[in-house]
Amino acid sequence: MKAIVIEEFQKPLALRDLPAPHLRTPFDVIVRIEASGVCHTDLHAASGDWSSKPALPLIPGHEGVGRVVEAGEMAVLSVGDRVGIPFLHSSCGACEYCLGGNENLCPAQQMTGFTVPGCHAEFVAADSRFTVKIPDALDSNEIAPHFCAGVTTYRAVKISGAAPDKTVLISGFGGLGHFALQYARLTGARTIVVDVSEEKLEAARRLGADATINASETDVPRAVRKLGGADIVIGAAASSKALRGAFDALKRGGRLVVVGLPPDDLAVPVFNLVVKGVGITGSYLGTRKDLREVIDLAARGRIKCEYTTAKLEDINDVFDEMKAGRIQGRVVLKI
Ligand SMILES: [Zn+2]
Ligand SMILES: [Zn+2]
Repeated sequence: MKAIVIEEFQKPLALRDLPAPHLRTPFDVIVRIEASGVCHTDLHAASGDWSSKPALPLIPGHEGVGRVVEAGEMAVLSVGDRVGIPFLHSSCGACEYCLGGNENLCPAQQMTGFTVPGCHAEFVAADSRFTVKIPDALDSNEIAPHFCAGVTTYRAVKISGAAPDKTVLISGFGGLGHFALQYARLTGARTIVVDVSEEKLEAARRLGADATINASETDVPRAVRKLGGADIVIGAAASSKALRGAFDALKRGGRLVVVGLPPDDLAVPVFNLVVKGVGITGSYLGTRKDLREVIDLAARGRIKCEYTTAKLEDINDVFDEMKAGRIQGRVVLKI
């Protein structure tokens, strides 16, 4: 099968011909991939710039959609089912987090396209218990990014306390941010979007943002205060500078929920943190229940992914565009 492979950190990815995967456990299914969204995490995996690095060689990709072509004896899916594959490949099922319904926090979890081979390939092996069936009406390319960017921001907004009387600031309007805005609007909250690209801010206004701020031209905390301040920030930018600006824009009692993963640390003044009674929370992926809710919202037409398509062999060009911050919404590899 054709697959994209990270062979060395900081080097271009290679298109290789590899043996197709086989069933590893009775719960596994083999999926013929039709669409695979490109996530910032793929770029970090290939750069090796996080403290946690994958073992190489690795096939990245964790927003895969396709049809089941082979199913293990105990698989909860059947041959022919159209399914989506998230980053959370599997969890242990027995730790305090799994037992508490927070399997996204399982320390023994396996991650698609990070600890096990991913979806930027013609075939992938997936654990059927963590793989979700997709209603026929949904387009494979459009639904693929819901499996990481969608569910990640859905959970972040869900735990943020967003409500009709709150103002939610979305910091960063890439793939994560454009989903975060839509979920925040569903809660009835007022929304402010901050980015450094005028094109992305234009897209945010088109998607219904109440206000937009260009961080390359304006002092963000001051501009947000003029708008009445932010109760909640969804930190979707992979930039610690952007996160710090968003932190400074929070009202007293506000909450910063971080989903973007900059390679460096976030430094905040402890004095302001204490005196303003501000909360900072990380939010990581989503649970299987969150994912089902995300797919249901998409099936009801409430959330749409804006995307463009590319081919497997275009991956290095897609990464260049991503590094330059030029991608609007998501890029999906059509396979
Ligand atoms: Zn991702
Ligand atoms: Zn566990």
